[in-house]
Amino acid sequence: TLYPKRLPLMTQIEGKNENISQKKLIFNKITKRSIESLGKTQGRLVILGSGWAGFKLLRDLNKEHYEAIVISPRNYFVFTPLLASSSVGTLEFRCIMEPIRKYSPNIQYYQAYADKIDFKNQVIHCTSNLELSKNKFSIPYDTLVIAVGANSNTFGIKGVGDHALFLKDVSDARKIRQRVIECFEHASQPSMSEEEIIGLLHFAVVGGGPTGVEFSAELHDFITEDISRLYPRLMNKVTMTVYDVAPQILGSFDVSLRDYATKKFARKGIKIRTNTQVAEVTERKLVIKDNGDVPYGMLVWATGLTDNPFTRSMSDQVLKDQSAKRLLTDEFLRVLSKENNQPIDNVYALGDCATIKDNDLPATAQVANQKAKYLSKALNQIAKDRGSMVRTSPFVFRNLGSMAYIGKKEAVVDLTPVSERAKEGGTIAWLFWRSSYFTMTVSLRNKLLIPMYWLLTWSFGRDISRF
Ligand code: FAD
Repeated sequence: TLYPKRLPLMTQIEGKNENISQKKLIFNKITKRSIESLGKTQGRLVILGSGWAGFKLLRDLNKEHYEAIVISPRNYFVFTPLLASSSVGTLEFRCIMEPIRKYSPNIQYYQAYADKIDFKNQVIHCTSNLELSKNKFSIPYDTLVIAVGANSNTFGIKGVGDHALFLKDVSDARKIRQRVIECFEHASQPSMSEEEIIGLLHFAVVGGGPTGVEFSAELHDFITEDISRLYPRLMNKVTMTVYDVAPQILGSFDVSLRDYATKKFARKGIKIRTNTQVAEVTERKLVIKDNGDVPYGMLVWATGLTDNPFTRSMSDQVLKDQSAKRLLTDEFLRVLSKENNQPIDNVYALGDCATIKDNDLPATAQVANQKAKYLSKALNQIAKDRGSMVRTSPFVFRNLGSMAYIGKKEAVVDLTPVSERAKEGGTIAWLFWRSSYFTMTVSLRNKLLIPMYWLLTWSFGRDISRF
């Protein structure tokens, strides 16, 4: 069904002075008989993506008033902070997934990639990514929310895309788990030379940010607590290295916590190679700039982000930032047109694919979550106050700090943005890390499954079957 075009939801910004908090946005009243006749006063709202931003928005949106459609190539949400745990079997994959359809029968979901947007006619062109069909179809929208995330940035380094593993989705975590076991099985086979075994059992992680550090810590736990019992003969050949071009790991953390994590890693035997640039990756070797080749068995690439093909397709139409190529929005999360630098009617962007012009925020779940909360509130307010003017303030990010697991039941927790002295490293921080993420998990099912798998892992070890 094609809806008639509506009046723009947001039409005017009042008080164009320097103080952002004083700005108020006016939403126009929207009443269209054809839309009301369908029982959805606000028309069709299409959400692209089922990640932190898209899923949160979907949950908080008032579906009585909006005909909500989600388009995403995956029909589930992934709780990424626990993805590293699931990649080594501390948790099972199902513990960190929430099915989109199950969440609300009151929505429509299409498993597909959005390919292109026709902003003029308010239509999205999509291609389904089902095994059975690669259907092409188009969906008209009244309001569009772009929350398609971002891709891992390989910085154009030769061989990374072909040979490295990434950690963005459950499918990546599954590949990692399989590869670790495969390296050990391969190294245990007869006729392997010492040199080959050492190469196979070198686990390399590129990227010393929270994702790279947490993954290295989880992998180290897995190898020392579970693999070591099954392949004791090989343990003295295992090495792990974290590479980063920056001078320190966990660059966004307080300096004392960075030092703490670095010392802990050194004590565990995880090598940290900072100020180091990977120049090329081949099937079995890393080529380090000015330092020769290093063989590896598994390479996990956990560096920065870049645009995905969909956001790249918009480069001629919308404003983007130069570094991570994210869509630029105003402080009301409206996408800015390249033609006139003005917001495009009823099109919003949030999460890793977008950033606010002149107010760059980190690409984290925390930011995505807060933006989704803000936008759902604004959109619900429009629905509630139909017929009257609706006012809202610009989005303001509240930094709640950051945390990272560093292995052996220890974590670093940096809450200095909230309170100057609130930082902690060690077991208490780990308890805080676990309980915070446990509290944030969405469904009751996963709230039961997660502690159950923690207990199972603690009692019987992690699953090492290769499937
Ligand atoms: P995503 O969650 O990546 O979701 C993007 C969605 O868009 C996906 O459903 C994807 O399938 C879909 N999509 C992609 N292309 C298209 C298309 N063409 N059409 C339609 N849909 C599309 N942040 C924290 O704050 N704390 C943490 O502890 C933390 N830990 C992390 C651990 C890991 C291993 C990783 C990878 C990230 C972590 N992050 C963390 C970062 C956080 O996960 C991201 O910032 C967050 O996922 C961004 O949310 P998003 O919705 O923008 O993108």
